[in-house]
Amino acid sequence: MTKAANVFRSVFGGEPDGVWGAPGRVNLIGEHTDYNDGLVLPFALAERTEAALKLRADGLIRMCSAVVPNDILGIPTKELAPGWPAGWGSYIAGVPWALEIDVGFDVAIDSLVPVGAGLSSSAALICAVGLGLNDVLDLGHSRRELARRTRRTENEYVGAPTGGMDQIASLLGTEGHALLYDVQADTTEQIPFDPSAAGLKVLVVDTTVRHGHADGEYAERRADCEMAARQLGVQTLRDVAYADLDSALDHLENERLVKRARHVVTENQRVLDTTAALAADDWVAAGELLTAAHASIRDDFEASCTELDVAVAMLLESGSLGARMTGGGFGGAAIALVPADRTDEAAHTVRAVFADNGFAPPNIFSVVPSAGATRIE
Ligand code: ADP
Ligand code: MG
Repeated sequence: MTKAANVFRSVFGGEPDGVWGAPGRVNLIGEHTDYNDGLVLPFALAERTEAALKLRADGLIRMCSAVVPNDILGIPTKELAPGWPAGWGSYIAGVPWALEIDVGFDVAIDSLVPVGAGLSSSAALICAVGLGLNDVLDLGHSRRELARRTRRTENEYVGAPTGGMDQIASLLGTEGHALLYDVQADTTEQIPFDPSAAGLKVLVVDTTVRHGHADGEYAERRADCEMAARQLGVQTLRDVAYADLDSALDHLENERLVKRARHVVTENQRVLDTTAALAADDWVAAGELLTAAHASIRDDFEASCTELDVAVAMLLESGSLGARMTGGGFGGAAIALVPADRTDEAAHTVRAVFADNGFAPPNIFSVVPSAGATRIE
């Protein structure tokens, strides 16, 4: 019996029609590339968000979440409109809106995906509700179509300008694989990714910090990328080939744009190189690519922060094959490929150095590439 179903019973009474779970994700590599039509390589986590859901006949949507206790929201489907209700409820209300359905339901949420850590608790929530409604109403949308529509929930209803990777990973991830997503071609490819078979773990250090300027900086980075593309006469930075990078950079008006473009173009190449390294079972090369990606996002894209840089440095110092920040940046989480027998030591080192620096205590845990969203009950 899931906790979401228990919450459902205690808040709404009666049995839900079903319970659906959708995972958070870690982006292994390919940061700030998705909105540039580029390449990303996320994998789905075992940590999921569960939605216990039951249709209602009266057109009312009621919602509650164990993450925000005592905040039970109700909204008639007739009143669905982007941004309404403000806050966490919009992630749920935006799902029937994106599915273009006019039905009421009660939904209770429970989640083991840390919120705001860059592991995409937002997409996990949206996708759990989306898959649930798709199933219970027999809408027949493919997972690709659900990913497209649930992306609209986040972009247009919630108003968060995310790039589409999160929903794809949450809905299409499979156990033991990372998912190569080519945004421009709109294609996905399952890439075998099994660190445990190589004696490794993917360690996540959630710094628990989220810097207040993060949203503004994210918007500025997007604007920089768009301006760089305009100055280069291309639709998006994806259209700049890695081989042409140096000559392309000469056409940019200032150093800031040079740095932004260099990050995006080299990062796309690093995604391809990581995919090749994994295919060759070359974990050392994969680790080096992660570390290079961190340097690029820190120095060229300027989307890291002190806590993330310290976490990455300490993870590398304690034997990781590679480490980088993951997610939008300016806080959130770092990941590392760590030999399984050194994870305790690595976690200990990071905690000690965080304490010495007066940083908040980090949450440190390992993650395993797991299956995408499913019906649980
Ligand atoms: P991330 O996706 O990296 O965790 P976001 O800022 O994109 O961070 O999304 C976090 C927001 O999503 C929260 O502030 C909250 O509004 C909503 N959210 C995520 N998970 C839940 C949940 N289980 N219950 C209620 N709201 C949630
Ligand atoms: Mg999110």
